[in-house]
Amino acid sequence: MTTQRRNFIKSIALLGGATIIDFNLKAQSIMRKTSANSKLQLRWAPYDLQMKHVFTISNSSRKTTPVVLTSLTYDGVTGYGEASLPPYLGESQASVMEFLKKIDLSGFSNPFHIEEILQYVDKIAENNTAAKAAVDIALHDLLGKIMKQPWHKMWGLNTGKIPDTTYTIGIDTDDMIRTKVKEVEGQFNILKVKLGTADDKRIIKAVRSATQLPIAIDANQGWKDKHEALDLIHWLKEQGVVMIEQPMGKYNLEDNAWITERSPLPVFGDESVQRLRDVQKVKGVFTGINIKLMKCTGLHEAWKMRNLAESLGLKVMLGCMTETSCAISAASQLVAGMDFADLDGALLIQNDAFDGARLDKGKIVPTDEPGIGIKQKIKIDYK
Ligand code: MG
Repeated sequence: MTTQRRNFIKSIALLGGATIIDFNLKAQSIMRKTSANSKLQLRWAPYDLQMKHVFTISNSSRKTTPVVLTSLTYDGVTGYGEASLPPYLGESQASVMEFLKKIDLSGFSNPFHIEEILQYVDKIAENNTAAKAAVDIALHDLLGKIMKQPWHKMWGLNTGKIPDTTYTIGIDTDDMIRTKVKEVEGQFNILKVKLGTADDKRIIKAVRSATQLPIAIDANQGWKDKHEALDLIHWLKEQGVVMIEQPMGKYNLEDNAWITERSPLPVFGDESVQRLRDVQKVKGVFTGINIKLMKCTGLHEAWKMRNLAESLGLKVMLGCMTETSCAISAASQLVAGMDFADLDGALLIQNDAFDGARLDKGKIVPTDEPGIGIKQKIKIDYK
């Protein structure tokens, strides 16, 4: 098989739409015009997100989220990326910067070799999925800018079919819950409520005292007994809940499957499904999967996960961490046609560093700007 043919087949796996040939031809013609000594240059800057409210889930609480922002330049064009690092996930600004230092892109003269570049990055060390996502997102932004196209167009997605985003209400007092719900009244069509403690019914009653919007539940592995969890799910359905996320422990596939089989509501796996290799394992365990760029190493693998999940008959949702509009806009490129969206990360912070995907009638909608569709709002000193 010729190299050209191999690359063509790789691109099919990569893009999977009618735009493949167009993408390849454009990429080749662009590369012919690029100066021969162009190099990929990766830089980064740590940045601390200030959250609007203290954010509490079943096992932790915080007011700030550290991130590392990246920039990737090639032939005078720069793409931006981000690693978001909620402390309970095990990465830090120090570990991300340590990982990024190990990356040597001098062996890659063609930025369109996405598969090869990201495979190289992935093999540098285990885990470090947010650090890898920061490279992947910057590479996608860069390539889209070179191509002068946003990724949702290159993937051939219908932005008329973007699901409503959920807006997350963390675990809190009744008064704070009511305040948070009222604060966003009219802006969202569905809320996400974090459960998984002894206070679950109280929290739902507090939310219901302030709104009748549909609710998505995230138990964050917090439920410990499958029978009690199932009873609670039946009660939640009567309260207008429409879906459940990660009822029990991430390794406890048996009990999660037991619940899914009997649940009157769709059950999505989040912590149980990190990367592409996990998707097949949860067929029959959950109704669907929650894909997040920070746990699956970025857009390239997220796109593959989505396609594999759909081919296995699993539903798909797209989630996020607390992130700037950089990572959220990257995710927004991929969200059209999915079953649920949970992309409120940038709405929870006070100091977003980017303009990008916007909240429009309860949906997070990507811009039509090229790449991931963002502009820097403040000056970041990438080193
Ligand atoms: Mg979750």
